[in-house]
This record gives sequence, structure tokens and C-alpha cells, in this order.
Amino acid sequence: MHVDSKTIEQIVGRVLSQINAADVAPAPAAADCGDWGVFETMDAAIEASDRAWHEYLSHSMADRDKYVTAIREIFTDPEMLEHLSVEAVRQSGMGKIEDKITKNRLAALKSPGVEDLTTEALSGDDGLTLIEYSPFGVIGAITPTTNPSETIICNSIGMLAAGDTVVFSPHPRAKKLSVEMVQLINRTLVNLGAPANLVSMVREPSIEATNAMMSHPKVRMLVATGGPGIVNAVLSSGKKAIGAGPGNPPAVVDETADLEQAARDIINGHTFDNNLPCIAEKEVIVVDSVADMLIHNMKKNGAYLVKNQQTIENLVNLVTKNGKPVTEFVGKSAKYIFEKIGVQIDDDVRCILIETTEDHLFVQIELMMPILPVVRVANVDEAIDMAVRVEHGNRHSAMMHSKNVDKLSKMAKLIQTTIFVKNGPSYAGLGAGGMGIATFTIAGPTGEGLTSAKSFCRKRKCVLVGGLDVR
Ligand code: NAD
Repeated sequence: MHVDSKTIEQIVGRVLSQINAADVAPAPAAADCGDWGVFETMDAAIEASDRAWHEYLSHSMADRDKYVTAIREIFTDPEMLEHLSVEAVRQSGMGKIEDKITKNRLAALKSPGVEDLTTEALSGDDGLTLIEYSPFGVIGAITPTTNPSETIICNSIGMLAAGDTVVFSPHPRAKKLSVEMVQLINRTLVNLGAPANLVSMVREPSIEATNAMMSHPKVRMLVATGGPGIVNAVLSSGKKAIGAGPGNPPAVVDETADLEQAARDIINGHTFDNNLPCIAEKEVIVVDSVADMLIHNMKKNGAYLVKNQQTIENLVNLVTKNGKPVTEFVGKSAKYIFEKIGVQIDDDVRCILIETTEDHLFVQIELMMPILPVVRVANVDEAIDMAVRVEHGNRHSAMMHSKNVDKLSKMAKLIQTTIFVKNGPSYAGLGAGGMGIATFTIAGPTGEGLTSAKSFCRKRKCVLVGGLDVR
């Protein structure tokens, strides 16, 4: 489905009409707004963002809540959701439209807003002290090609709720979609009385522009959602930085697991958006005594087991180069990958399963394709030790299917991942079928965990001496 500019106007109109008309300030002249948050140079984007932040400081929490609500409305509109998801797949060449719709809706509905900013209060003989979450100012946010729209939605909600402004640096392959989203957010929020350029970006994203952003004195915080290169770059910048980096999530299955459910959950989690999510199951480690039954059930859920060693070799040579995934195959379907090596499969096959050993490249690297290696081990303790090794200390995500509470606790402690899902698919950790909030910026290395508005704040202390203690 293609959404033209007239339809976008209608969506903006619908969103605005859903917000209480009495709260809506008249829109400033379009000339005040530039090209709705899109600038020719990074410097111009940051200067505009800094001006917007100074203006935003005088807006109330109710205003912030209104702007966040409007962003939720824009990106839960069914036409808009479908448009974003179609465009994300088309522009990035990765993923599945129906799963991107789920992910975008999740980001719009379950990313926390202003309610996340709770105040700590201390009162006593010396008076009253408040510790509050206060904005950093201008945030530079780098977004990945694997979740191009989801990250803009959840970062915009969290950062604007926190009282910050944000300059996005999207992946160049997702620039068209990102420009459209930034403009849409600005047009809607300005119509609600917000300062222009609460969100902004440079028209032509590039590594040079991102480097300029990382060294600009008016950018107070950097948030990188991406691979190891960009996470290391922001952590070396000398600025406050949040690093949401790569994962290689293992799924462990022991002899006490419900094997039918484990197989279903693993295949559903692994194939979600063709395995693009950083949290998605990337390898399975199973106790030998139940391995055949697990694989049998995986096949019933759309997995195709490749036994021929030459076919496995052909797969390795096709989808990896110099030990890294080949971009053309990242986020592609099982059928697309199989066809390239001349294997014909039914349309309902969604996962390419191989049995292998720990040292296989598919176990060791974050492939982000629906190719799932399975490794057998003698017992659950060996499985846990192997899971810790292949997670490579990313501290990202891991899954375990077991009814043995002691072993579940053991793995949770040893693997130290930000997300640990027990007896469910990986996406339960993102609030889809599991309790909790959603975010597409999961900060393992820097420890914020599932980022939300408070992650984008500084804690400030406000002390009133000798007053307002009513005890
Ligand atoms: P990527 O690292 O190639 O790109 C991410 C972003 O960083 C892009 O905008 C890119 O243009 C930019 N970038 C990359 N290297 C750069 C450099 N040296 N200088 C300046 N900019 C640079 O990653 P990707 O392929 O877009 O996304 C997939 C990766 O992101 C995977 O490793 C995945 O696990 C990770 N990821 C992590 C999370 C999380 O929340 N932890 C979420 C999504 C994706």
C-alpha cells in the first residue's frame, strides 16, 4: 500500500481531531518550521534542536503528555502502521511486513511516557528535598536499519516525555522513511502548540554527519542503537552515552521442558521479523535426551531440517563472508535464502534448521536470518555453560525452557543478560505476551536495560531548608 501526501494530511488531521481542541494552540506560520525538522547540515539540525529545547523547558508536564499521546496516535493509525511497515521492508530490504506492524504498534503503545518520571521526596527536621528526573537537553540518537521506524517511535516518546529534544542519525538505507516520520511528528506537534524541531535530522545521513553529531558541544547525550562499531564510537565520545548493542541470544532446552511449547516458542521468536530483532533466538542448545523430540516439534512449526553437509556448506558460503553476515541475506525469508542455493521448499517453511557443534560460525555470530543452529549437549549444566560462552558477554538476551527452578535461576545468574525469558518466545521480553514495557533500545553494555523516559534524564536534587515537614 502506498500512502500519498493527501492521506498523510488526513492522518495528521485525524490525530489532531482526537486531541482535545481546547488544548490546541494555533500553528505558527510554516516559515517558522523550516522543512519540519529536516535540515541540510548536522550543525543546523543541532542548533535548531537546542533552540527547541530552550523553548520546551517552559512547557508543562501536561504538554509533554499531550505530545507523547499524539505520537502514539500517529503511529497506531492502521493506515500509517501499514505504510511504515511496507516502506521499512522496501527501503531496508529486510524483515516481514506483518511483524513490523506488530513491532511498530508495540513501540507506539507500550513505550512509557511522562508517568515514568517518578519523584523521590525526603522530608524531616531539615526540610524537604526532591530528587527529580530532569532532561539532558539535546540528545543525538543513532538508529539501526533493522528496526528503523520502531526505534524512532520509542526514542521520540521516551526522549520527549523526558523533556529532551532529539536529533536522529538514521541508517542511510532508511533515510526516506526517517525523513517522513520526523516531518510527520513535527507537523502534528507544532499544530498542538509544541516548539518546532523537537525531533530533527539531517536530510542525508552519513558517517561524517554522525561523527559531527558525536563531537558537537550542544549535544549532551548520545544514544546508539546498533552494532559494535557505533556503540564503541559513542562510548569513546567523552559524552554521556547509552549503548544498545548487538546480541547473540541462546535458547536452552532441558529434559524437564514442555517440548511442544518450547519448539513453538523458539520458532515463533526466532522467525519474528525474519530474525532481525537483537533479542531473537539465534541458536538452540538442547539436552541430548530430548533433542530429537524438540526437533520433531520444531518441524511441525515450520522448520526445515537440513541434513546434507554440502547444503550446509553452500549456506555458509552464501550468507557469510569473512566471518560476517552478508547484508543481502539479513532479514530475508527462509524461502529466499533456499532459492539462492537451488533448494525448493513449501511456502509454510519459515526456518532453516541445522544440527551442528558449538564452533560452527552460525552458532558464534549474530546472523539475523531465519537459519537456526541446534547443538546437543549431555546435560543442562553443560547447556548453561555453552550458552554463556556463545552469548559472548554481550549481556543482551537469553531464553530457557525448563521446569527446574534451580537450573532456571542458575542460568539467569551466570548469563547476566539484560533480558532473560523463561518458557516463552524472546519477544515476551519486549512486552509482547510477557509483562513489562516495550523498547527497541535495550542497553546492555551501559546498564540502563530496557530504556524508557527516565533513562534519558539526569537526576537533580532540589532542597528546601527548614520547611514543609508536616509530621
Ligand atoms: P549498524 O551498526 O550497521 O548501524 C547502526 C547505526 O549506526 C546506523 O545508523 C549506521 O549508519 C550507524 N553507524 C554504524 N557504524 C558507524 C560508524 N562507524 N560511524 C557512524 N555511524 C555508524 O547496525 P544495523 O545493521 O543497522 O543494526 C543491526 C545491529 O544493531 C545488530 O548488531 C543488532 O543486534 C543491533 N541492535 C541492537 C539493539 C538493542 O536494543 N540493543 C536494537 C536493534 C539493533
